[in-house]
Amino acid sequence: MDADGCGSRVHARIYPDAVAHNLAALRVLAARATPAPRIWATVKADAYGHGLCRVLPSLADADGLAVTQLADARACRDLGWTGPILVYAGLLDPAEADRLALAGLHLALSHAAQIDWLAAAPAAAAPPWVWLRYVGDIGYTGFDDAGYAAAYARCATLLAQGRIAGIGHLNHYGRAEHADGLGQADRRFQAVTRGLPGPRSCCNSAALLRHPGAAQGTDWVRPGLALYGASPLPGIDGAALGLRPAMSLHSRIVGIRDVAAGARIGYNGTIVASAPLRVGLVACGYGDGYPRHAPAGTPVVVDGHAATTLGAVTMDLMPVDLTALPPIAVGAPVVLWGTPELPVEAVARHIGTIAAELLTSLTPRVRVMSARAGDRPPQAACR
Ligand SMILES: *Cc1c(COP(=O)(O)O)cnc(C)c1O
Repeated sequence: MDADGCGSRVHARIYPDAVAHNLAALRVLAARATPAPRIWATVKADAYGHGLCRVLPSLADADGLAVTQLADARACRDLGWTGPILVYAGLLDPAEADRLALAGLHLALSHAAQIDWLAAAPAAAAPPWVWLRYVGDIGYTGFDDAGYAAAYARCATLLAQGRIAGIGHLNHYGRAEHADGLGQADRRFQAVTRGLPGPRSCCNSAALLRHPGAAQGTDWVRPGLALYGASPLPGIDGAALGLRPAMSLHSRIVGIRDVAAGARIGYNGTIVASAPLRVGLVACGYGDGYPRHAPAGTPVVVDGHAATTLGAVTMDLMPVDLTALPPIAVGAPVVLWGTPELPVEAVARHIGTIAAELLTSLTPRVRVMSARAGDRPPQAACR
């Protein structure tokens, strides 16, 4: 298999340069606050499906990386990242607290047992920072108004004993994409942390992109999705926000059939041709991570022409409507998402999901390769 995707059914092209561009763009947004906050570049879920190893060099300018679990932090170190690493899930169990060996570790703590585990563990050679997570308006996890001060006091004891290196305060917004998404959430966070020393960390991608003043008063922001060029704001694509997509997904036409009006195709005859139909089969299905429930009408690009799916996505194949297109040959390239004509956000909208879900859903059989924007898309004729 060569670098342009020949020989693969479905392949994803990753654009590391786009990640570097997006990080710089987010830094400009963050720098509207004074002093400018630092950036935890969120690389959870293998860098939102882009492959940490592929995008890490593009994140060299980030101040820290944020991951989900401790094992991911180790992976960052193994790939050569020497800066701070924030672990959103903190500690999963006491055994993790016993094995804190990484330097530069920052653990988000969300419940009291995690503090118990740290207190009971042997003192780490390089004590970690902890960040107390406020439950916030998302309300999934974290210390609430009643428990926050006590959690802080216990951590302050660990700090005095030298068992941790510092204490920060972390809030995660639940509805930052809305005009009124921050006010109440910020007021509650400020109230619960008032008078407590330590840095603050707020702001996901939506907060930075939607609210010019969002980063004011926070020491560290934590964008994720926007680093990869996708927008979390409803109805606004990343390109309109100055972001560049970091992944495009490609396949090809592997079969073409003309079916008569009234014919049924697909399992259980799900698709009924209301008129004579030219059906193209794209070599991509839910076994590759393309959602099975993608409805008819989901946009694709076939040989450079806008087209739509017919629904009935199978494990390996999905039918698209070629009826109104100029002649298309078997082997024609198909873009599933991630080019300027077909942003992943547009595909997500049609499917009723969000870009982040599509990007993180690709399965191991999708071939992934690094590319540069403007590289020639894969050609039908390649051998
Ligand atoms: C995923 C995550 C982020 C980044 O969110 P995006 O919406 O992708 O920018 C920030 N903070 C926490 C706690 C997260 O879990």
